[in-house]
Amino acid sequence: MARYVMKFGGSSLATVEHIRAAAEVIARQRRAGHEVAVVLSAMGDTTDELLAKAMAVSGRPNPRELDMLLSSGEQVSVALMAMALRELGFPARSLLGHQVRILTDSVHCKARIEKVETERLEAELHAGVIPVVAGFQGIDSLDEVTTFGRGGSDTTGVALAAALKADECQILTDVDGVYTTDPRMVPQARRLARVTFEEMLELASLGSRVLQIRSVQFAGKYNVPVRVLHNSGVGEGTLISYEEPDVEAPVVSGIAFSRNEAQVTITGVPDRPGNGYAVLRSVSESHIVVDMIVMNAPRAGIVDFSFSVPREEYDQAMELARTAAVEIGAGDVLGSASVAKISVVGVGMRSHAGVATTMFEVLAREGVNVRMVSTSEIKISVLIEEKYLELAVRSLHEAFGLDQAPVAAN
Ligand code: ADP
Ligand code: ASP
Ligand code: MG
Repeated sequence: MARYVMKFGGSSLATVEHIRAAAEVIARQRRAGHEVAVVLSAMGDTTDELLAKAMAVSGRPNPRELDMLLSSGEQVSVALMAMALRELGFPARSLLGHQVRILTDSVHCKARIEKVETERLEAELHAGVIPVVAGFQGIDSLDEVTTFGRGGSDTTGVALAAALKADECQILTDVDGVYTTDPRMVPQARRLARVTFEEMLELASLGSRVLQIRSVQFAGKYNVPVRVLHNSGVGEGTLISYEEPDVEAPVVSGIAFSRNEAQVTITGVPDRPGNGYAVLRSVSESHIVVDMIVMNAPRAGIVDFSFSVPREEYDQAMELARTAAVEIGAGDVLGSASVAKISVVGVGMRSHAGVATTMFEVLAREGVNVRMVSTSEIKISVLIEEKYLELAVRSLHEAFGLDQAPVAAN
């Protein structure tokens, strides 16, 4: 007998029929003799719809009230699922974050899980009851409702799996695993049988929304094997786990991309210590996260200083850059909100040179200009004009042989 946490995403719970179908998938695991705890997202686009309502009432909704509102979506799906499981003859009980006692910090709308109490869950499992837990929500030390940011049910799933010492956390979704890139963009994308935590962390943080970043961090920290599976429960999906030394990794495992990017450039910055700091300080004091940074070699005592920020923060970042430019005696501030980031990721890059060369070669051949670059041990990201995104992703996918069965690195 194994113990599984099964998490279903919103697209897999869009209608009552979807909920019935998911209940069948859960029942199958129980009939096979396994113990199951379930974690659910809200049905379909519920969270988006609730968010739109909040924005219609208040341009800047109060975060506490927003958590109260958004957490209601998951209450609906867990109650319906518990009913559906009962119809199939399996005792089930829906539970909200405060009933399980999923304890978090007090940062509304992006709270972090500090502890998952297991007493109630273990008691239900022991009694043969399937706990059906609302994802994405918890309570802080004052019993205030908190939520975990978009995609946060993934993190609830992994946190429960860690607390319950489950054999696996299964993430059931509308694709049958993690692909070499988003299969909606590149039809030739292939499902990966295995991905390391490190690679998944890069893919998730660089734009692949299949798993929330925090869920991958949690899984890596507590060594929870995570399997991304089709919501029919059929197939092997993708197992995310630690790198096994004897597994020969391909050089590039996957490509992630993000349209949520904008670039700001301050021209004519006097080449003096402290000027870069002056710009970045004002941006970070406004809680804007700077991603890529480029400073060119000085010519005649001046440099151009560029950085990228999330697109929704573009206007504010431009404003701050203009103010900083005046303070430090720089020239014009230029910018673009129609840029996108492409990242190639693979643990095999540690031991293989030449990935950047191939990437630049492919982009040059397609006439795509690279505006910024950043690298880590296992990834290379480039910022390009958004209109070339699809072309660039497809060309890189082919150039790195990701549409072919994997060839092991040597
Ligand atoms: P859920 O509703 O189950 O939480 P999400 O919409 O959050 O599902 O995530 C699944 C989606 O992630 C897929 O439909 C797919 O378009 C997208 N996606 C992006 N990158 C990848 C990738 N590398 N592999 C698989 N899916 C990806
Ligand atoms: N319902 C929340 C969202 O749409 C959480 C989740 O689906 O994981 O972001
Ligand atoms: Mg999701």
